[in-house]
Order: sequence, then C-alpha cells, then structure tokens
Amino acid sequence: MEKLDILSMSLSDLETKLLDMGEKKFRAKQVFEWLHIKRVSDFSLMTNLSSDLRLKLSENFHITELKIVRKLCSKIDGTIKYLYELSDGNHIETVLMDYHHGDSICISTQVGCKMGCKFCASTIAGFKRNLTPSEMLSQIYTAEKDSGRKISSIVMMGIGEPLDNYDNVIKFLNLVSCPEGNNMSLRHLSLSTCGLVDRINDLSEHKFGLTLSISLHAANNKQRSEIMPVNNKYDINELISACKNYIKKTGRRISFEYALINGVNDSRETANELISLLRGMNCHVNIIPVNKIKERNYKTDTSSVRKFQHYLEEGGINATVRRTLGSDINAACGQLRREYEI
Ligand code: SAH
Repeated sequence: MEKLDILSMSLSDLETKLLDMGEKKFRAKQVFEWLHIKRVSDFSLMTNLSSDLRLKLSENFHITELKIVRKLCSKIDGTIKYLYELSDGNHIETVLMDYHHGDSICISTQVGCKMGCKFCASTIAGFKRNLTPSEMLSQIYTAEKDSGRKISSIVMMGIGEPLDNYDNVIKFLNLVSCPEGNNMSLRHLSLSTCGLVDRINDLSEHKFGLTLSISLHAANNKQRSEIMPVNNKYDINELISACKNYIKKTGRRISFEYALINGVNDSRETANELISLLRGMNCHVNIIPVNKIKERNYKTDTSSVRKFQHYLEEGGINATVRRTLGSDINAACGQLRREYEI
C-alpha cells in the first residue's frame, strides 16, 4: 500500500483517517501540531503519542522532506536562494528575501511551466509536473529551519503557474493559514498568475484575503500575444473583466506586474494604453526591470523605468518600481534550476 502524504492533509482529513484507523479524533490535532508547529520530520519524535501509534503512523503515512542541494547567499542584501531536490529527483527553487518589514519567501508551484512566456527562464525546458501542497509548504518550513529566520510573508512567484495547479494551490492556501497549524494570515500572501481567466473567477469565490498579482506585461493584445502565448487563449479584455469581477467579489486591490522591455512595451503610447485599460480600477502597477536570461535578448532601458512610472502616475495610476534583490546570485526565477539541470 502506498503511504499517504500526511503534510498535504487538512486537519479534518487527518481526523477522518485516524478515526478510520480506530484512533481517537483528538490525536489528529496532536499530530497536526507536530507537523505544522513543531515541524518534526519523523514520527518517532512525536513523544506525546504511544509508540504503537507512532509505528502505525509511520506504516501508513510519509512526511515530505526537501533536500537542499545548493544554497546561494547574496553578499549585497541577505537574499538566500535554495535549490531543492524533490523525492523523485526533480529540482525547484525558493528564494528568501529580507524586506524592511520582515522576511519574505518566493515559492515554486510546479516543476517547470507550460505557459511559454518569452522572457521567463522557468518555461524554457517545458513542464514536468505539479507540486503537491506538502512540497509547497516544505519550501517554507525547510527555509525557516535552515536559515533560522522567521518568514512573515509569502509570494507565489517562483517556478510554475499557480492557477494551472489549482486544486493543490487551494489546499496549500488552506494549510498555510490553518489556525491549528502554521496560522499565517493570507493577507501576507501574494499569488501571481499569467492570467488563467476561468481560474481567477474560481479563486474569487473563495474570498481569500490574499493579494492577486496579474502578470500583465503589455497594454494591448498584439503586444501581449507576442510575449505571452496565454493571451491567445484569454485576451486582455477577458482578463481585465475577470480582474474587475475579482475586485468586486473580494474587495481586494489587484497588483499588475509589468516587466519593462526595451522597444517592446515601454513607449509613451503604451503607457497611455495602459492608463485607459486600468483607469478606475482598484489596482496598482509594479514595474519590473527585466531580468536578463541567457536564452533571450530582452533588456530594460534603465532610463525608461522612472519615465514610465511617471507617465502612469500622471495618468492617475499608482505605480511602483520593484527593488532588485539578489542580483549577485541570479535570483530570477528558473535560472538556478536551468543551470543545475543542464
Ligand atoms: N506563472 C506566474 C508566476 C511565476 S513568474 C505568473 O506568470 O505570474 C513570477 C513573475 O516574474 C511574473 O510576473 C513573471 O512574468 C515575471 N518574470 C518572469 N521572468 C522574468 C524576467 N526575466 N524578468 C522579469 N520578470 C520576469
């Protein structure tokens, strides 16, 4: 019999399972605390359970663990980038960043990515598989344990498209915020998507407090389809309608990510189009200097960053410029895994 992935199970799933095994319901809460608060990686360490029960648990369940195969520490700003190995030998990346208001972690949601965005290193070698909820959680638990740092916010902006792994991501969101476990408010979590419209609509029904980030990167269909194939399936107008619906349903502001690419999407005309597109929405634009990847020739003209921000603000759109962290360790998503696997 295949052992169950216990770190992916909700408290109520665990209760049901332990009742099925002839155990008392309250045992589930004890086990859940060992996993998500004390974070042990071996059932034998769960010392308030009988040795019989510990044995039974180890026969029925396994606890997901990630192996750190590389760790790069920035000398400039305290950023740490982890390359983890999964139990099947695949690799993923996680980045720990030191912000003024506390440590933030950027986690991966898939091994590789199907979305094909032209500027992104995560998609070049294609898609391997979805991550389980426990593999998403373990990225956080392992980084906290290794670094001794306490993580106060999470961004789902690593390798993969979170909404293409929808069911596991929803389970992860419920687990990471579970009051009997890790207990992090979803107000401290951002989920970034390239714009899977149907899933954005599904997500809006959950009314989570998280911040939704939309990787927009363009202001019209021609421009966006050139760099993001997903735009051929869900075009900009459908995407913006889904965003408006999301804001209405959740009451939350949306953040639009905009990687400024020289000669592609950084002109004054594009800024004007973007202003018309977003006018009146409860949103803000995060301008990102593009991270150079060796397979592509995209770059940002640094003098255009402030100009573009200024155009947007003049047009009444809130705009910030993303700080570049870990520039000495190649912290852009997908780059370390690509180097390691080739
Ligand atoms: N699939 C999700 C999350 C992963 S990418 C999404 O598309 O949002 C996280 C963010 O980094 C996205 O906004 C993505 O468009 C951006 N990104 C990817 N490669 C980049 C690069 N080379 N330079 C700047 N931003 C990049």
